[in-house]
Amino acid sequence: MTIQAIIKKAVQRLENEGKLLTPDFYAEAFCKEAALAKMSVGDCSHVETLSKTLNKEYQNELKQYRIKTIAELARFLISKLNRTNPSMCMEALDAHVIFSKRVLQAIDVLHNKEASELAKRSLELLDSQPSTAQIEQFRQLWVNFLTTYDDSFLLKLSSYGEIDTKDLKRSIENLREGSGDSIEIASNMDLDSIASLLVASLVPSIASSVNDKIADLSEKIKRKPSSLQELSIEEEIRSAISLRIALDKNSVKEMIESLDVVLDKLSLRLIEMIERSDDSTSEIQKIKQDLTNLNESSANNFTLAHKKLFTIALALEENTKVLSKDLRGHNNEVQILSARVKELEEELASAKAASKEDFLTKLYNKRALHEFLSVREAEFGRYEHNFTIVMFDIDHFKSVNDTYGHDAGDAVLAAFAKILKHESRSVDIVGRFGGEEFMALLSETDTKGGVIFGEKVRKHVEKARFMYKGERIAVTVSGGVAERAKFPSLQNTINRADELLYVAKHNGRNQIAYKK
Ligand code: GH3
Ligand code: MG
Ligand code: MG
Repeated sequence: MTIQAIIKKAVQRLENEGKLLTPDFYAEAFCKEAALAKMSVGDCSHVETLSKTLNKEYQNELKQYRIKTIAELARFLISKLNRTNPSMCMEALDAHVIFSKRVLQAIDVLHNKEASELAKRSLELLDSQPSTAQIEQFRQLWVNFLTTYDDSFLLKLSSYGEIDTKDLKRSIENLREGSGDSIEIASNMDLDSIASLLVASLVPSIASSVNDKIADLSEKIKRKPSSLQELSIEEEIRSAISLRIALDKNSVKEMIESLDVVLDKLSLRLIEMIERSDDSTSEIQKIKQDLTNLNESSANNFTLAHKKLFTIALALEENTKVLSKDLRGHNNEVQILSARVKELEEELASAKAASKEDFLTKLYNKRALHEFLSVREAEFGRYEHNFTIVMFDIDHFKSVNDTYGHDAGDAVLAAFAKILKHESRSVDIVGRFGGEEFMALLSETDTKGGVIFGEKVRKHVEKARFMYKGERIAVTVSGGVAERAKFPSLQNTINRADELLYVAKHNGRNQIAYKK
């Protein structure tokens, strides 16, 4: 539908409603027709657009009164204005100004220099009936302050305690060293560290004694670092430093003196040593002279101590050279001697190997017994010289060792050997065959003779008083007798004597067994 058609319809509508074609009636009818035709016409939405700019309270009233036209809106607003008391606006404005002033006064006391200054200037402005432009200028200054405000400088305090930038008071209370002094401490931070450095440097580094004057000054600085700012303390510090240096110097002097005494003693001792040594080369003589000269000198200083030490080191080095030369000279002799010892050891070993004597009982050992056995066997083979073997074994010998000890066992073996030797004839061979086993090799003897010999030994042992450390040890012996002529070979005869020995053991010990 065109605008012309809507205009026609609007005119028609006014006619139908019996209204005059006044601008207001026409505008109302036109807008109604446009709305019916769903045509959006800017002029018809003025009321709507304007009403949106009013506060909520007025907007609601507009809805309530169904205000549709500009004329109605105008009437509504006029009636509102007519009802508004101008003094009410002024009151509100005054309240705003007073409120702003209080806020500014509060900002003024908030410990921020920029904010305080700006607050002071703003207060002056409010008192001087400012123009809108002036207020706008100050508003801008506050915006600048807010955007550039930075309180990160507070974090520098964080090494002194916990810092909360939102709560300055609490942060300051949290600073170390107690709440009372904390503000002073924060401002004296640098002085504090200087004070502790100074106190540390006043302590004598070498001297061990404590000096009252230095201690008092240190205490004073420690207790109140701010005293470093006082002029009078400068002289005190100066004299404490000189005192400290003097104390250290004195200590060094004392140390060198005591070191010097030690060095003197050391060099004297060295001279003595060198003099006692046979070697008197010109070099050592020279060192001796040097040391003597140094001892005569009375000056005590580092250079002297150093010189003395150096000379001593030289003398020692020289002496060591002489000693090692000596040692090298003797080294050859040592080598010759150790070769000789080795030779002797070897000789001893081969002598031991060739020995026929049992080391403990002094009877023949097993090797010797075998040699005699083969000689007897040869004689038996060639001349039919009969012989008898008697094997002895001490009864329960293990329990002798266990009860009285190994030394007692050895003593019993030696005593038994004596009995065996004592009972045998000079042509008989007696020897130790093994641990506590003995063998008698009886020439020209048969079983009967062997048994007689065996019994003699057995009885002697039975009666003998084996004493060890005042204690009597009861000993018995068993034996086995075998005659060569009764067996086919020597080995067979030895085995038989052994078997019979064990028959004697089996039958109750302390007896001689033989084959009839
Ligand atoms: P049996 O009456 O059956 O012969 O008993 P036994 O205890 O004498 O026999 P056994 O063969 O069991 O023990 C022999 C012991 O002789 C064991 C060993 O330690 C001891 N013996 C061997 N040679 C020596 C020695 O040279 N000196 C000492 N003290 N003991 C020895
Ligand atoms: Mg035994
Ligand atoms: Mg045995």
